[in-house]
Amino acid sequence: MHIACIVEGTKDWSGMDSASEQTIEQQSRAHQRTLTLTLGLTFTVFIAELVGVVLTGSLALLVDVGHMLTDVSVLIASTITAALMRRRPTESRTWGWARLEVITAAAGSTILLLVGIYALIEAVLRLTGVEEAQVRDTQLMLLFGLIGLLANVGSLVILRSSHNDNLNMRTAFLEVMNDALGSVGVIAAALVVLYTGWADADALAGGVIALLMIPRALRLISKSLKVLLEETPHGLDLKAVRNHLDRVPGVVAVHDLHASTVATGMTQLSAHIVVNSNLSDTQRAEILRSMQVCLRTHFPVSIDHTTFQIEPEGYEQRYESTLHIHA
Ligand SMILES: [Zn+2]
Ligand SMILES: [Zn+2]
Repeated sequence: MHIACIVEGTKDWSGMDSASEQTIEQQSRAHQRTLTLTLGLTFTVFIAELVGVVLTGSLALLVDVGHMLTDVSVLIASTITAALMRRRPTESRTWGWARLEVITAAAGSTILLLVGIYALIEAVLRLTGVEEAQVRDTQLMLLFGLIGLLANVGSLVILRSSHNDNLNMRTAFLEVMNDALGSVGVIAAALVVLYTGWADADALAGGVIALLMIPRALRLISKSLKVLLEETPHGLDLKAVRNHLDRVPGVVAVHDLHASTVATGMTQLSAHIVVNSNLSDTQRAEILRSMQVCLRTHFPVSIDHTTFQIEPEGYEQRYESTLHIHA
């Protein structure tokens, strides 16, 4: 005997009241402004540090630039997400630009990984004396390290006020926080070279920052790949979802169940639901409502975007392609 999936109450859950909608709208606008400002600052410093790498030949600075490029891509993704929370999709682009978030994240983390690997190899070559490359201008390197750190501190101050508002803003905050450590590495290396004359400090700092960076790049790549491969959203137990749907009174079977992430905070689920063939329209509507409320409220990941295909018993054998029966 199955225990039914319990959905309480019959009140209308579809719309928020206009007051709270307006607050979200205002907050989202503020987030977008904050992120755009941070992005502008980070991007300017990214270009400045890139010039610094060419001028000084510092490895530590190069790794910091790679790091900053990832920040730029993550910040672009966050800015787009903040903007998207307000923008309506179009007929030809039904998800709006939401997928751009994962593409940006994938590209940014791949670049981060490549820079990390390059810097690691270069650090080993320089430290073992195979390559004689050295920092051409340590004072300039120190200056660029300081510019980077100042920009990071500036971004942190801008982001601080809203970093607890949502996951998106929190990610942006942690990203900049992380990058500040890279700038500290550059400054420390430059100071060691300046005061002790030990030239290898730059290669050592570059290697260490690269070592810390590579696992993070791999984590980011794997995270975006999971979204690109349309894997089941992290934290959602599809087996539990299937059990819940199975237990909705009137449901006979569930098949062709798919769940994926469109963008941060945007998950979708589709399923074919076989129901008793003698149900009335009101009973079918009640089943549909129960399933929607279930997916919005019964799991750690709330799924707002659901598509259910209601099928009468016996429909499957007659009309459906065998392609999708496995899920
Ligand atoms: Zn079906
Ligand atoms: Zn449920």
